[in-house]
Amino acid sequence: MFAEILTIGDEILTGHTVDSNSAFIASRLTERGYWVRRITTVGDDVEEIKTAVREILARKPEVLVISGGLGPTHDDVTMLAVAEALNRKLILCEGCLEKLKAFYERLHREGYIDDPNLNEGRKKMAYLPEGAEPLENTEGAAPGAFIEHEGVKVFVLPGMPREMRAMLENEVLPRLGRRKFVQRKFLAEITDESKLAPILQEALERFNVRIHSSPKGFGKYIGLIIFAEREKEVERTAAFLRERGIGLEEA
Ligand code: ATP
Ligand code: MG
Repeated sequence: MFAEILTIGDEILTGHTVDSNSAFIASRLTERGYWVRRITTVGDDVEEIKTAVREILARKPEVLVISGGLGPTHDDVTMLAVAEALNRKLILCEGCLEKLKAFYERLHREGYIDDPNLNEGRKKMAYLPEGAEPLENTEGAAPGAFIEHEGVKVFVLPGMPREMRAMLENEVLPRLGRRKFVQRKFLAEITDESKLAPILQEALERFNVRIHSSPKGFGKYIGLIIFAEREKEVERTAAFLRERGIGLEEA
């Protein structure tokens, strides 16, 4: 089960914004048992986004999560680019339009904005690729979209971290089913990663696990994260590492 993430925004490419969205999405998908194979970032450009989406779909992940560029401004072109990449039309989602109307009316009532009407920029957010299911944005205006395209579950989420997180938790993860996946963290009492390497290699060949190792600096512990579908597989791997003389402590 593999997944890919595509984050969109010129501000990420210029270094003005650190791409924390992809780390958050990756950690949630990993917890769910997905192997995130690639994270791509492109700017707010229709052609760049289209090309990236098509390249990702050609690799046939089970899941593609896209984030950024759903807002009302001219540089928010993600929905259009995704629609084009999937050869779908961009069509008006009536339910989304109603929600946007109510959203801006509420902001107006509460005194945050001076004009409650749906102008072009606001209306733009109600257009989704044909066949898409709208995803509710509990924290902001722009709805997201869920599209099943040739066996790939494509999710399009906003870029604002608060909005993206809420939509990921409430709308995306429930659509990915409940798959148990175990990840356990250990500290290995070994100070040199190169000595650990052949032992980890052997463990990977013997057991159905993935292992991430992160050195904490020379003379210190090495952090290990063991991922597997079953708890037993993690236990067997840990037992094997101990047998090979590596002191392991649960972290
Ligand atoms: P909205 O619907 O709220 O306008 P949007 O989908 O248009 O959101 P963007 O315009 O891409 O989102 O980004 C809005 C803000 O969210 C950016 O100014 C940036 O600070 C933040 N942001 C966007 N992408 C990321 C990311 N990948 N990681 C962290 N922050 C991000
Ligand atoms: Mg925006």
